Amino acid sequence: MTRELSSNLEKYAELIVRTGVNVQEGQDVFVTGAVEAAELVRNVASKAYEAGARNVHVDWTDDALSRLKYEKAAPDVFEQFPEWETSKRNSFVERGAVFISIVSSNPDLLKGVDSARISAFQKASGMGLKEFRRAIQSDKVSWTVVAAAGQDWAAKVFPDASGEEAVQNLWTAIFDSVRLHEADPVEAWVKHNETLHEKAEILNKHRFAKLHYTAPGTDLTVGLHEKHLWVAAGSTNQQGNSFMANMPTEEVFTVPLKDGTNGYVSSTKPLSYGGNIIDKFKITFENGRIVKAEAETGEEILNKLVEIDDGAHYLGEVALVPHESPISQSGILFYNTLFDENASNHLAIGSGYAFNVEGGKTMSPEELEAHGVNSSITHNDFMIGSAEMNIDGIQADGTVVPVFRKGNWAI
Ligand code: ZN
Ligand code: ZN
Repeated sequence: MTRELSSNLEKYAELIVRTGVNVQEGQDVFVTGAVEAAELVRNVASKAYEAGARNVHVDWTDDALSRLKYEKAAPDVFEQFPEWETSKRNSFVERGAVFISIVSSNPDLLKGVDSARISAFQKASGMGLKEFRRAIQSDKVSWTVVAAAGQDWAAKVFPDASGEEAVQNLWTAIFDSVRLHEADPVEAWVKHNETLHEKAEILNKHRFAKLHYTAPGTDLTVGLHEKHLWVAAGSTNQQGNSFMANMPTEEVFTVPLKDGTNGYVSSTKPLSYGGNIIDKFKITFENGRIVKAEAETGEEILNKLVEIDDGAHYLGEVALVPHESPISQSGILFYNTLFDENASNHLAIGSGYAFNVEGGKTMSPEELEAHGVNSSITHNDFMIGSAEMNIDGIQADGTVVPVFRKGNWAI
Protein backbone atom coordinates (compact mmCIF):
# COMPACT_ATOMS: atom_id res chain seq x y z
CA MET A 1 0.00 0.00 0.00
CA THR A 2 1.33 3.42 -0.96
CA ARG A 3 1.75 6.06 1.71
CA GLU A 4 -0.80 8.19 -0.14
CA LEU A 5 -3.44 5.44 -0.01
CA SER A 6 -2.86 4.77 3.66
CA SER A 7 -3.21 8.45 4.53
CA ASN A 8 -6.38 8.69 2.43
CA LEU A 9 -7.83 5.63 4.16
CA GLU A 10 -7.25 7.28 7.50
CA LYS A 11 -8.98 10.50 6.36
CA TYR A 12 -11.82 8.47 4.84
CA ALA A 13 -12.28 6.49 8.07
CA GLU A 14 -12.43 9.72 10.03
CA LEU A 15 -15.14 11.04 7.68
CA ILE A 16 -17.15 7.81 7.98
CA VAL A 17 -16.97 7.87 11.79
CA ARG A 18 -17.64 11.60 12.23
CA THR A 19 -19.95 12.55 9.34
CA GLY A 20 -21.30 9.12 8.37
CA VAL A 21 -22.52 7.82 11.73
CA ASN A 22 -21.28 10.52 14.11
CA VAL A 23 -20.11 8.12 16.85
CA GLN A 24 -20.89 9.34 20.37
CA GLU A 25 -19.06 8.61 23.64
CA GLY A 26 -19.96 5.14 24.97
CA GLN A 27 -21.73 3.99 21.79
CA ASP A 28 -21.45 0.57 20.18
CA VAL A 29 -20.45 0.43 16.51
CA PHE A 30 -21.56 -2.36 14.17
CA VAL A 31 -19.49 -2.63 10.99
CA THR A 32 -20.16 -4.87 8.00
CA GLY A 33 -17.19 -5.05 5.67
CA ALA A 34 -15.40 -7.37 3.25
CA VAL A 35 -12.06 -8.95 4.10
CA GLU A 36 -10.73 -7.19 1.01
CA ALA A 37 -11.48 -3.86 2.72
CA ALA A 38 -9.71 -4.94 5.94
CA GLU A 39 -7.38 -1.95 6.02
CA LEU A 40 -10.29 0.50 5.83
CA VAL A 41 -12.27 -1.49 8.41
CA ARG A 42 -9.30 -1.35 10.83
CA ASN A 43 -8.99 2.40 10.29
CA VAL A 44 -12.72 2.84 10.93
CA ALA A 45 -12.49 0.83 14.16
CA SER A 46 -9.53 2.88 15.32
CA LYS A 47 -11.25 6.22 14.58
CA ALA A 48 -14.44 4.97 16.26
CA TYR A 49 -12.55 4.17 19.48
CA GLU A 50 -10.87 7.58 19.26
CA ALA A 51 -14.37 9.09 19.09
CA GLY A 52 -15.28 7.26 22.30
CA ALA A 53 -16.90 4.05 21.03
CA ARG A 54 -17.57 1.48 23.75
CA ASN A 55 -17.20 -1.50 21.40
CA VAL A 56 -16.64 -1.97 17.67
CA HIS A 57 -18.14 -5.18 16.31
CA VAL A 58 -17.20 -6.29 12.79
CA ASP A 59 -19.16 -8.73 10.62
CA TRP A 60 -16.75 -9.84 7.88
CA THR A 61 -17.89 -10.87 4.43
CA ASP A 62 -15.93 -12.43 1.57
CA ASP A 63 -17.06 -12.57 -2.07
CA ALA A 64 -15.29 -15.87 -2.75
CA LEU A 65 -16.89 -17.57 0.26
CA SER A 66 -20.30 -16.12 -0.58
CA ARG A 67 -20.13 -17.52 -4.11
CA LEU A 68 -18.88 -20.89 -2.83
CA LYS A 69 -21.82 -21.09 -0.42
CA TYR A 70 -24.33 -20.34 -3.19
CA GLU A 71 -22.81 -23.10 -5.29
CA LYS A 72 -22.24 -25.80 -2.68
CA ALA A 73 -24.38 -25.37 0.43
CA ALA A 74 -27.59 -27.35 1.05
CA PRO A 75 -30.70 -25.70 -0.48
CA ASP A 76 -32.41 -25.16 2.87
CA VAL A 77 -29.55 -22.86 3.96
CA PHE A 78 -31.00 -20.17 1.67
CA GLU A 79 -34.55 -20.55 2.88
CA GLN A 80 -33.99 -19.56 6.48
CA PHE A 81 -32.22 -16.63 8.03
CA PRO A 82 -30.56 -17.74 11.28
CA GLU A 83 -32.41 -16.51 14.35
CA TRP A 84 -29.14 -15.62 16.04
CA GLU A 85 -28.32 -13.28 13.17
CA THR A 86 -31.66 -11.54 13.69
CA SER A 87 -31.17 -11.22 17.45
CA LYS A 88 -27.59 -10.04 17.04
CA ARG A 89 -28.70 -7.07 14.91
CA ASN A 90 -31.70 -6.34 17.09
CA SER A 91 -29.60 -6.35 20.25
CA PHE A 92 -27.26 -3.76 18.75
CA VAL A 93 -30.32 -1.65 17.80
CA GLU A 94 -31.55 -1.93 21.40
CA ARG A 95 -28.16 -0.71 22.65
CA GLY A 96 -28.48 2.33 20.38
CA ALA A 97 -25.51 1.28 18.26
CA VAL A 98 -24.53 2.93 14.98
CA PHE A 99 -24.31 0.84 11.80
CA ILE A 100 -21.63 1.17 9.13
CA SER A 101 -21.93 -0.87 5.96
CA ILE A 102 -18.86 -0.92 3.70
CA VAL A 103 -19.71 -2.24 0.24
CA SER A 104 -17.14 -3.51 -2.27
CA SER A 105 -18.72 -6.55 -3.90
CA ASN A 106 -18.29 -7.69 -7.47
CA PRO A 107 -21.51 -6.43 -9.15
CA ASP A 108 -22.07 -9.77 -10.88
CA LEU A 109 -20.70 -12.03 -8.18
CA LEU A 110 -23.55 -14.52 -8.42
CA LYS A 111 -23.90 -14.62 -12.19
CA GLY A 112 -24.91 -18.14 -13.25
CA VAL A 113 -25.97 -19.18 -9.74
CA ASP A 114 -29.43 -20.79 -9.45
CA SER A 115 -31.73 -17.73 -9.21
CA ALA A 116 -34.10 -19.68 -6.92
CA ARG A 117 -31.34 -19.75 -4.28
CA ILE A 118 -30.67 -16.03 -4.65
CA SER A 119 -34.30 -15.02 -4.35
CA ALA A 120 -34.91 -17.48 -1.47
CA PHE A 121 -32.09 -15.87 0.47
CA GLN A 122 -33.17 -12.32 -0.42
CA LYS A 123 -36.58 -13.19 0.95
CA ALA A 124 -35.32 -14.97 4.08
CA SER A 125 -32.88 -12.20 4.97
CA GLY A 126 -35.49 -9.53 4.19
CA MET A 127 -37.85 -11.18 6.66
CA GLY A 128 -35.14 -11.89 9.23
CA LEU A 129 -33.99 -8.27 9.22
CA LYS A 130 -37.48 -6.75 9.34
CA GLU A 131 -37.04 -5.11 12.75
CA PHE A 132 -33.58 -3.91 11.85
CA ARG A 133 -34.86 -2.39 8.59
CA ARG A 134 -37.65 -0.65 10.46
CA ALA A 135 -35.11 0.89 12.87
CA ILE A 136 -33.12 2.17 9.92
CA GLN A 137 -36.03 3.39 7.86
CA SER A 138 -37.40 5.43 10.74
CA ASP A 139 -33.99 6.87 11.80
CA LYS A 140 -34.18 5.12 15.18
CA VAL A 141 -30.44 4.54 14.85
CA SER A 142 -27.65 6.23 12.89
CA TRP A 143 -26.41 4.33 9.87
CA THR A 144 -24.31 4.84 6.80
CA VAL A 145 -23.45 3.00 3.60
CA VAL A 146 -19.99 3.67 2.16
CA ALA A 147 -17.75 1.88 -0.33
CA ALA A 148 -14.29 0.38 -0.58
CA ALA A 149 -12.49 -0.56 -3.79
CA GLY A 150 -12.48 -4.33 -4.37
CA GLN A 151 -10.45 -6.11 -7.05
CA ASP A 152 -13.33 -7.68 -9.01
CA TRP A 153 -15.53 -4.62 -8.72
CA ALA A 154 -12.64 -2.42 -9.95
CA ALA A 155 -12.04 -4.72 -12.92
CA LYS A 156 -15.70 -4.35 -13.91
CA VAL A 157 -15.61 -0.53 -13.67
CA PHE A 158 -12.21 -0.11 -15.37
CA PRO A 159 -11.97 -3.06 -17.77
CA ASP A 160 -9.06 -1.55 -19.71
CA ALA A 161 -6.80 -0.99 -16.71
CA SER A 162 -4.50 -3.63 -15.18
CA GLY A 163 -5.65 -5.19 -11.88
CA GLU A 164 -3.62 -2.92 -9.60
CA GLU A 165 -4.32 0.18 -11.68
CA ALA A 166 -8.07 -0.52 -11.74
CA VAL A 167 -8.15 -0.72 -7.95
CA GLN A 168 -6.21 2.57 -7.70
CA ASN A 169 -8.63 4.21 -10.15
CA LEU A 170 -11.63 3.00 -8.17
CA TRP A 171 -10.19 4.30 -4.89
CA THR A 172 -9.60 7.68 -6.55
CA ALA A 173 -13.20 7.74 -7.83
CA ILE A 174 -14.53 6.81 -4.37
CA PHE A 175 -12.40 9.43 -2.61
CA ASP A 176 -13.43 12.13 -5.11
CA SER A 177 -17.11 11.24 -4.69
CA VAL A 178 -16.90 11.76 -0.90
CA ARG A 179 -14.99 15.08 -1.23
CA LEU A 180 -11.82 13.74 0.37
CA HIS A 181 -9.73 16.12 -1.73
CA GLU A 182 -11.23 19.12 0.10
CA ALA A 183 -8.98 20.73 2.72
CA ASP A 184 -11.54 19.87 5.42
CA PRO A 185 -13.82 17.07 4.18
CA VAL A 186 -15.98 17.08 7.33
CA GLU A 187 -16.69 20.80 6.84
CA ALA A 188 -17.23 20.30 3.08
CA TRP A 189 -19.97 17.80 3.94
CA VAL A 190 -21.69 20.27 6.26
CA LYS A 191 -21.94 22.68 3.30
CA HIS A 192 -22.98 19.97 0.84
CA ASN A 193 -25.70 18.80 3.21
CA GLU A 194 -27.03 22.37 3.51
CA THR A 195 -27.20 22.71 -0.28
CA LEU A 196 -29.21 19.49 -0.60
CA HIS A 197 -31.55 20.49 2.23
CA GLU A 198 -32.20 23.88 0.60
CA LYS A 199 -33.34 22.04 -2.54
CA ALA A 200 -35.59 19.78 -0.45
CA GLU A 201 -37.13 22.86 1.19
CA ILE A 202 -37.94 24.42 -2.19
CA LEU A 203 -39.69 21.21 -3.27
CA ASN A 204 -41.56 20.99 0.06
CA LYS A 205 -42.92 24.51 -0.42
CA HIS A 206 -44.44 23.56 -3.78
CA ARG A 207 -46.60 20.78 -2.22
CA PHE A 208 -46.78 18.81 -5.47
CA ALA A 209 -49.61 16.31 -5.77
CA LYS A 210 -47.93 14.54 -8.70
CA LEU A 211 -44.72 14.40 -10.70
CA HIS A 212 -44.91 13.73 -14.41
CA TYR A 213 -41.78 12.23 -16.04
CA THR A 214 -41.13 12.21 -19.76
CA ALA A 215 -38.06 10.86 -21.58
CA PRO A 216 -37.44 8.32 -24.35
CA GLY A 217 -39.08 5.11 -23.08
CA THR A 218 -40.67 6.90 -20.13
CA ASP A 219 -44.08 8.49 -19.54
CA LEU A 220 -44.79 8.17 -15.86
CA THR A 221 -46.94 9.93 -13.28
CA VAL A 222 -46.04 9.52 -9.61
CA GLY A 223 -48.60 10.63 -7.01
CA LEU A 224 -47.50 12.18 -3.70
CA HIS A 225 -49.35 12.22 -0.36
CA GLU A 226 -50.32 15.70 0.87
CA LYS A 227 -48.04 15.13 3.89
CA HIS A 228 -45.02 13.99 1.86
CA LEU A 229 -41.63 15.41 2.79
CA TRP A 230 -38.59 15.84 0.57
CA VAL A 231 -35.39 15.13 2.46
CA ALA A 232 -31.68 14.61 1.82
CA ALA A 233 -29.43 11.85 3.19
CA GLY A 234 -28.29 13.99 6.10
CA SER A 235 -30.64 13.10 8.94
CA THR A 236 -31.07 13.02 12.71
CA ASN A 237 -31.61 9.90 14.82
CA GLN A 238 -34.00 9.49 17.77
CA GLN A 239 -31.37 10.78 20.20
CA GLY A 240 -30.99 13.94 18.11
CA ASN A 241 -27.58 13.07 16.66
CA SER A 242 -26.98 13.93 13.01
CA PHE A 243 -25.69 11.35 10.53
CA MET A 244 -25.29 10.83 6.76
CA ALA A 245 -27.05 7.67 5.54
CA ASN A 246 -25.14 7.38 2.27
CA MET A 247 -21.70 8.62 1.27
CA PRO A 248 -21.59 9.75 -1.47
CA THR A 249 -25.05 11.27 -1.75
CA GLU A 250 -26.40 13.80 -4.24
CA GLU A 251 -30.14 13.05 -3.99
CA VAL A 252 -33.23 14.65 -2.54
CA PHE A 253 -36.05 12.18 -2.18
CA THR A 254 -39.53 11.50 -0.89
CA VAL A 255 -42.02 8.65 -0.77
CA PRO A 256 -44.55 8.11 -3.58
CA LEU A 257 -48.21 7.55 -2.75
CA LYS A 258 -48.48 3.76 -2.83
CA ASP A 259 -51.34 3.52 -5.34
CA GLY A 260 -50.56 6.74 -7.23
CA THR A 261 -48.07 5.67 -9.94
CA ASN A 262 -49.27 5.18 -13.53
CA GLY A 263 -47.53 4.72 -16.88
CA TYR A 264 -44.15 3.28 -17.81
CA VAL A 265 -40.53 3.99 -17.06
CA SER A 266 -37.27 2.77 -18.64
CA SER A 267 -33.97 2.22 -16.89
CA THR A 268 -30.96 4.26 -17.98
CA LYS A 269 -28.19 2.41 -16.11
CA PRO A 270 -27.64 -1.25 -15.25
CA LEU A 271 -28.75 -2.38 -11.79
CA SER A 272 -26.73 -4.87 -9.75
CA TYR A 273 -29.18 -6.85 -7.63
CA GLY A 274 -28.48 -10.10 -5.77
CA GLY A 275 -25.08 -10.45 -7.46
CA ASN A 276 -26.58 -10.15 -10.96
CA ILE A 277 -26.87 -7.35 -13.50
CA ILE A 278 -30.32 -6.29 -14.68
CA ASP A 279 -30.09 -3.97 -17.71
CA LYS A 280 -32.24 -2.13 -20.25
CA PHE A 281 -35.51 -2.69 -18.46
CA LYS A 282 -38.97 -1.16 -18.63
CA ILE A 283 -41.57 -1.25 -15.87
CA THR A 284 -45.29 -0.54 -16.32
CA PHE A 285 -47.55 0.62 -13.46
CA GLU A 286 -51.30 0.71 -12.92
CA ASN A 287 -52.59 2.46 -9.79
CA GLY A 288 -49.19 2.05 -8.17
CA ARG A 289 -48.82 -1.63 -8.93
CA ILE A 290 -46.18 -3.04 -11.25
CA VAL A 291 -48.12 -4.92 -13.91
CA LYS A 292 -45.22 -5.63 -16.28
CA ALA A 293 -41.43 -5.79 -15.92
CA GLU A 294 -39.37 -6.48 -19.04
CA ALA A 295 -35.57 -6.50 -19.34
CA GLU A 296 -33.05 -7.16 -22.11
CA THR A 297 -30.66 -8.55 -19.47
CA GLY A 298 -31.72 -10.23 -16.23
CA GLU A 299 -35.49 -10.29 -16.82
CA GLU A 300 -35.92 -13.40 -14.67
CA ILE A 301 -34.07 -11.88 -11.71
CA LEU A 302 -36.03 -8.60 -12.11
CA ASN A 303 -39.30 -10.48 -11.97
CA LYS A 304 -38.10 -12.46 -8.93
CA LEU A 305 -37.38 -9.12 -7.23
CA VAL A 306 -40.92 -7.89 -7.99
CA GLU A 307 -42.40 -11.19 -6.78
CA ILE A 308 -40.46 -11.23 -3.48
CA ASP A 309 -43.58 -9.96 -1.66
CA ASP A 310 -46.68 -7.90 -2.37
CA GLY A 311 -44.94 -4.64 -1.41
CA ALA A 312 -42.25 -5.23 -4.05
CA HIS A 313 -44.98 -4.58 -6.64
CA TYR A 314 -45.01 -0.91 -5.55
CA LEU A 315 -42.58 1.99 -5.28
CA GLY A 316 -41.08 3.24 -2.01
CA GLU A 317 -38.89 6.15 -3.11
CA VAL A 318 -38.75 8.88 -5.71
CA ALA A 319 -35.39 10.66 -5.86
CA LEU A 320 -34.14 13.62 -7.88
CA VAL A 321 -30.50 13.94 -8.95
CA PRO A 322 -29.39 16.33 -11.68
CA HIS A 323 -27.63 14.94 -14.71
CA GLU A 324 -24.84 17.42 -14.00
CA SER A 325 -24.15 15.89 -10.54
CA PRO A 326 -20.38 15.36 -10.00
CA ILE A 327 -20.70 11.57 -10.08
CA SER A 328 -22.63 11.73 -13.34
CA GLN A 329 -20.05 14.13 -14.80
CA SER A 330 -17.23 11.71 -13.93
CA GLY A 331 -18.72 9.54 -16.68
CA ILE A 332 -17.89 6.42 -14.67
CA LEU A 333 -20.48 3.65 -14.61
CA PHE A 334 -19.99 2.01 -11.20
CA TYR A 335 -22.40 -0.95 -11.46
CA ASN A 336 -23.10 -0.16 -7.81
CA THR A 337 -26.28 1.57 -6.69
CA LEU A 338 -24.59 3.67 -3.99
CA PHE A 339 -22.82 5.54 -6.81
CA ASP A 340 -25.07 5.15 -9.83
CA GLU A 341 -28.19 6.31 -7.95
CA ASN A 342 -26.29 9.51 -7.16
CA ALA A 343 -25.64 10.13 -10.83
CA SER A 344 -29.27 9.80 -11.88
CA ASN A 345 -32.91 10.40 -11.09
CA HIS A 346 -34.15 7.16 -9.62
CA LEU A 347 -37.06 5.29 -8.07
CA ALA A 348 -37.03 2.41 -5.59
CA ILE A 349 -39.03 -0.79 -5.72
CA GLY A 350 -40.23 -1.78 -2.24
CA SER A 351 -40.51 -0.15 1.16
CA GLY A 352 -40.74 3.58 1.78
CA TYR A 353 -39.01 5.60 4.50
CA ALA A 354 -41.16 6.64 7.46
CA PHE A 355 -39.37 10.00 7.69
CA ASN A 356 -40.67 10.92 4.21
CA VAL A 357 -44.09 11.86 5.65
CA GLU A 358 -44.72 14.49 8.31
CA GLY A 359 -44.62 12.82 11.74
CA GLY A 360 -43.77 9.49 10.11
CA LYS A 361 -40.82 8.63 12.38
CA THR A 362 -43.18 7.83 15.26
CA MET A 363 -46.07 6.31 13.24
CA SER A 364 -47.13 2.67 13.54
CA PRO A 365 -46.91 0.48 10.42
CA GLU A 366 -50.71 0.88 10.02
CA GLU A 367 -50.52 4.68 10.19
CA LEU A 368 -47.73 4.68 7.62
CA GLU A 369 -49.83 2.51 5.33
CA ALA A 370 -52.70 5.00 5.73
CA HIS A 371 -50.31 7.76 4.56
CA GLY A 372 -49.55 5.79 1.41
CA VAL A 373 -46.09 4.59 2.58
CA ASN A 374 -45.40 1.20 1.05
CA SER A 375 -44.00 -1.64 3.16
CA SER A 376 -41.94 -4.53 1.83
CA ILE A 377 -39.00 -6.69 2.83
CA THR A 378 -37.00 -5.13 0.01
CA HIS A 379 -35.92 -1.64 -1.11
CA ASN A 380 -34.02 -1.34 -4.39
CA ASP A 381 -33.19 1.87 -6.18
CA PHE A 382 -33.07 1.82 -9.98
CA MET A 383 -31.82 4.54 -12.28
CA ILE A 384 -34.09 6.35 -14.77
CA GLY A 385 -32.47 9.78 -15.29
CA SER A 386 -30.83 11.07 -18.44
CA ALA A 387 -30.02 14.33 -20.23
CA GLU A 388 -33.33 13.91 -22.05
CA MET A 389 -35.57 13.73 -19.01
CA ASN A 390 -38.18 16.39 -18.25
CA ILE A 391 -40.20 16.40 -15.02
CA ASP A 392 -43.23 18.54 -14.25
CA GLY A 393 -44.56 19.06 -10.75
CA ILE A 394 -48.36 19.22 -10.68
CA GLN A 395 -50.07 20.91 -7.75
CA ALA A 396 -53.48 19.94 -6.37
CA ASP A 397 -55.17 22.80 -8.30
CA GLY A 398 -53.60 21.60 -11.56
CA THR A 399 -50.80 24.21 -11.71
CA VAL A 400 -47.82 22.80 -13.60
CA VAL A 401 -44.29 23.75 -12.48
CA PRO A 402 -41.20 22.63 -14.46
CA VAL A 403 -38.97 20.71 -11.99
CA PHE A 404 -36.43 19.21 -14.42
CA ARG A 405 -35.59 20.19 -17.98
CA LYS A 406 -33.15 18.14 -20.07
CA GLY A 407 -31.97 16.24 -17.02
CA ASN A 408 -31.23 19.20 -14.77
CA TRP A 409 -33.02 21.30 -12.14
CA ALA A 410 -35.49 23.83 -13.50
CA ILE A 411 -36.68 24.88 -10.05
ZN1 ZN B 1 -32.10 6.88 -3.41
ZN1 ZN C 1 -33.24 4.05 -1.89
